[in-house]
Amino acid sequence: RIYLDWNATAPMLPEVQVAVLEAMKLPGNASSIHQEGQAARTIIERARRAVAKAVSSAAQGVFFTGGATESNNQILKDFVRRKPECTLICSSVEHPSVIEVVSDLSGMVATRQLKVDEAGRIDLDDLREISGPFLVSLMWANNEIGNIYPIREVADFVHERGGLLHVDGTQALGRIPINFRESGADFMSLSFHKMGGPKGVGAVVVREGLKVENMVSGGHQERGRRPGTENVPVIAGVEMAMNCLIENLGVWNSQMAELRERLFQGLAATGAVRRGDAESCLPNTLNVAWDLDGEDMLLALDLAGVAVSSGSACTAGSLEPSHVILAMGFDEARARQSIRFSLGPSTTREEVDDAIERVSKVVDQLRRI
Ligand code: PMP
Repeated sequence: RIYLDWNATAPMLPEVQVAVLEAMKLPGNASSIHQEGQAARTIIERARRAVAKAVSSAAQGVFFTGGATESNNQILKDFVRRKPECTLICSSVEHPSVIEVVSDLSGMVATRQLKVDEAGRIDLDDLREISGPFLVSLMWANNEIGNIYPIREVADFVHERGGLLHVDGTQALGRIPINFRESGADFMSLSFHKMGGPKGVGAVVVREGLKVENMVSGGHQERGRRPGTENVPVIAGVEMAMNCLIENLGVWNSQMAELRERLFQGLAATGAVRRGDAESCLPNTLNVAWDLDGEDMLLALDLAGVAVSSGSACTAGSLEPSHVILAMGFDEARARQSIRFSLGPSTTREEVDDAIERVSKVVDQLRRI
């Protein structure tokens, strides 16, 4: 089988598997004073420093969560708790863990959605006249179409008008360089399972001088911001994933970009059209459409041994067309045609060539029907 759904989740890197297994053997609670406890504490603090190094932020501003869904919830909800008079803004192509939170909070604060054009690029024009406290939530890179957003430019725009910027860095991590400090962003959410780290662990990154408070109450873990006994084995896996990323990102990035273009050329020959912003796109992501129904394609490709998806794994199964493609102005029928191919660092040229061949056969078969 050929796995081309890395934006849904990635296989755990072998080095990460070893690190997780080793840490599973340790008995200590990181809050305990004894040596077993301190060994667990050391793992967590090393992982925190590794995350900070990988994304160029201060280690004190990083705390671990159960994934980017939780990080997004915590950052947005805490902002509203602090500033009940605020306006909460997100783009119309955000992940459901942002869009749904903004929609849930719309009864309490003013909310807005930023429009995108037919290539999924955002338009800040709607915000020119904004006033009062506000938070903009924008992803660094989109999970469905791969668009990379101009974070520095948006941060400057937002700060000039007195607002703050939250960035969802989940899909950017492990695909393109992330420099939190230089990005100008105030808050960032991360998840580690899209790039070979363990699932069910993420982080909140906060600029110095700002705070994000706890969402659940309890102990003092993660300096009170995320109470509950830390998941030391997966956090050990995060450290290893970050070390692998720091060492290999340059190679991963160019290798994936080359294979993604090869894949696109092969699919274009079968009539596939690209969706999203080809000028500013993650190196591993390709969203394409044929004149065929996406669900039919997905099922046929799965039978042919190629695992891809029609959009976000968090909305798959709902049978609704992707909100991202709809926001780009496509009608429902055309939105249903989108298929996302997403590659990873261990995707090979042979797999890509094999995938092109299998997809061509499926396209031929479906066209005949
Ligand atoms: N944000 C983006 C952009 C994502 O792609 C995802 C995963 N689909 C998430 C947030 C949610 O991450 P997690 O699975 O860690 O909750």
